[in-house]
Amino acid sequence: MLAADFANLQDMCEMINHSEAEWLHVDVMDGVFVPNISFGFPVIEAVKKHCNKMLDVHIMIVNPEKYVARFAKVGAGMLTFHYEAAENPQQVIDQIRAEGIKVGITINPDVPVSVLEPYVNQVDMVLLMTVFAGYGGQKFIEESYNRIDELREIIKRNNAHCLIEVDGGVTLENAPKLFKHGVNVLVAGSTVFKASDAGKMILDLLNT
Ligand code: ZN
Repeated sequence: MLAADFANLQDMCEMINHSEAEWLHVDVMDGVFVPNISFGFPVIEAVKKHCNKMLDVHIMIVNPEKYVARFAKVGAGMLTFHYEAAENPQQVIDQIRAEGIKVGITINPDVPVSVLEPYVNQVDMVLLMTVFAGYGGQKFIEESYNRIDELREIIKRNNAHCLIEVDGGVTLENAPKLFKHGVNVLVAGSTVFKASDAGKMILDLLNT
């Protein structure tokens, strides 16, 4: 929803509700872990009231452990935190689990995929950033395909069942290749919200 018109969040929710999108991806930025600030709890709470799809909340914040309970309370169905922003990733995973919601872990494109190996068995989803966290509308980093392959190998080696999500620069052109490399969840911001028919774009992305 980072690419949506924030003055018309209710319209956005209705579009998402009527679309084939399974989740609504919500990007939270704190101005510390990333240079931008997006929005906080009151906005998520308002969106939750109108959106009947699961809120897939991606927190680009330092000290995620301090806020897990509040994100759960305002309606996150999945909470994905940055490995590199957490002093103790295991503790954050346990905390999210204890809230009874789904757990995701993510890394920026400059963090080795191998750091995720101890966690693939404990999370519901791994999000590989395909741009650097912090801004919408960036161009997809082509090296990401190798990182997706590496993650798939790690998941297989550990007999894990977590989903693979990618976030950043997803378009109609790269969506088929991403699915082919084993990605389960595509996050599309600008591609959807800049399309003349957002609902149709969602359908087109799913059917590539
Ligand atoms: Zn995101």
